[in-house]
Amino acid sequence: MSAWESNVRKVIPYVPGEQPKENNIIKLNTNENPYPPSPKVLEKAVELEKLRLYPDDKAELLVDTIADYHGLNNNQVFVGVGSDDVLAMAFMTFFNSDRSILFPDITYSFYDVWAELFGISYERPALDDNFRIKAEDYYKENGGVVIANPNAPTGIAEPISFIEDILEHNKDVVVIVDEAYVDFGGESALPLIDKYENLLVVRTFSKSRSMAGLRIGYAMGSEKLIKYMKDVKFSYNSYTMNMPSIILGTESIKDEEYFRETVGKVVETRDWFKEEIKKIGFSCPDSSTNFLFITHKDIPASEIFNKAREKKIFVRYFKKPRIDNYLRVTIGTREDMETFLEFLKTL
Ligand code: PMP
Repeated sequence: MSAWESNVRKVIPYVPGEQPKENNIIKLNTNENPYPPSPKVLEKAVELEKLRLYPDDKAELLVDTIADYHGLNNNQVFVGVGSDDVLAMAFMTFFNSDRSILFPDITYSFYDVWAELFGISYERPALDDNFRIKAEDYYKENGGVVIANPNAPTGIAEPISFIEDILEHNKDVVVIVDEAYVDFGGESALPLIDKYENLLVVRTFSKSRSMAGLRIGYAMGSEKLIKYMKDVKFSYNSYTMNMPSIILGTESIKDEEYFRETVGKVVETRDWFKEEIKKIGFSCPDSSTNFLFITHKDIPASEIFNKAREKKIFVRYFKKPRIDNYLRVTIGTREDMETFLEFLKTL
């Protein structure tokens, strides 16, 4: 190792799901929405000439639209480059004590990567045998709490009363609730942000709004929390939100009807697919998301993963303790899921 390398910040990065370059594949591996964004988004051409200008550093158009949509004040909203960026900013801003932050052993696998990157110590209380979060594990002293609700990759949602219980036991730290999948059936913690000034609710346009490619995420919380996050963000990079994201994200929020229609279709396909796979020996927890976490009584998950891949059907497999016999299957179109089902039946 060269001398300079001993001063390098060394990290083991998060590995996102594969983005295959081929056409004619069935892509059920990264929880994208199978439907295109709202036609209103597609119609709203961004005048390319305008791209010579810097975007609005405050992204006011988008922030105001999101705030109106949720009935909030615009200083209760923080926007970022996907919820990954928003969550990373929140970790950097709020987890700055000597105490360990807490998040489940099985959850979004970026949380421990950010903790390592920012030098935050952490503990991962184990989910119970049914993959449920045990609220009591979060009653002890800690440096902050992060809960994905619905959780990933399990798909399981907890009610708002569960989140409130965690908040009641954690008044001295920031509690982040990652609601990436909430639109597919979860109960949001948003009604609690006025009561708990230490609650940050994080959302994304990547799943229910079909806009993973544009990278838009946001956080909602008390004015104080949002101000602290903005101070960190503007000390790091003023122009995180590009002009197309600001304009097209706004159009998406305006089209509630399309949003409900496409989310409804995903939910309907999910519930149908779940019943079908149960008939052929699969089981999975009840999902409140756009994916199912499935396991088969006889065939190992790794084998299904590899054989599906040979047929150009991509699902997600995590070679990790406790979940290495499960597959996370994103809900595609009805047609995609019918093809996948036929494949599973032949297997
Ligand atoms: N939170 C959870 C629980 C996720 O599964 C994802 C998707 N990888 C994200 C956050 C980040 O999504 P994005 O950055 O596209 O908003």
